[in-house]
Amino acid sequence: MSEVSLKRPLLIAIDGPAAAGKGTLAQSLAGRLDLPYLDTGLLYRSIGKLMRIAGLDLDDAQAATIIAEKLTPDDLQRTDLRGREAGELASRVAVHPGVRAALIAFQRDFAHGPRGAVLDGRDIGTVICPDADVKLYVTASAEVRARRRTDELLAKGRLVDYEAILAEVKARDARDSGRAEAPLRPAADAIVIDTSVLGPAEVLAMAMSVVENWQKMH
Ligand code: C5P
Repeated sequence: MSEVSLKRPLLIAIDGPAAAGKGTLAQSLAGRLDLPYLDTGLLYRSIGKLMRIAGLDLDDAQAATIIAEKLTPDDLQRTDLRGREAGELASRVAVHPGVRAALIAFQRDFAHGPRGAVLDGRDIGTVICPDADVKLYVTASAEVRARRRTDELLAKGRLVDYEAILAEVKARDARDSGRAEAPLRPAADAIVIDTSVLGPAEVLAMAMSVVENWQKMH
């Protein structure tokens, strides 16, 4: 793949449902373009975890908002944020408008650093960075995403059941898309990449060509 000489700053927003491959794409794009990367799911995951550890009710919007307001970058370094449980907790606290509002400034500050950035999440192109230069929406069928997640967990030696994972994926989609505040949806100007039949290298190549086209036109 050819090297790209970047017009800076460059802000790339990547959204999409759980397990569609947006994290993998965001990380490799950021590496290739030498841009800072923020996985915004970690913000919601750490709030969910902190609520659970403190024994708080995930539906308690006020408590969740207070935790969100006190969140620090150190909280994102926790080692227990990546798994399925944290993902479920995250999507429960992400429905609270106060939680979302408390996280806006941190995400926008990160996005508008001197070099630009890559952010991935659910509402980056629609709410956090509607001004992003390049917006990608990475998706795949629920069945493909559940199959990939099942295979990943099986490869780690975990005993998991495809049907249970599929039900989880669908429940998370419904919660993320159905919430009143910042529901999961592609921005009107996002380029949709369906990863159902594409591998990570092909997805990266597609995204790089979108970035290169944008660079040519600006
Ligand atoms: O992307 P990840 O799976 O880490 O996100 C976990 C959950 O956090 C999502 O299912 C969603 O409910 C929430 N989230 C969000 N907005 C973001 C990132 C994540 O609502 N920008």
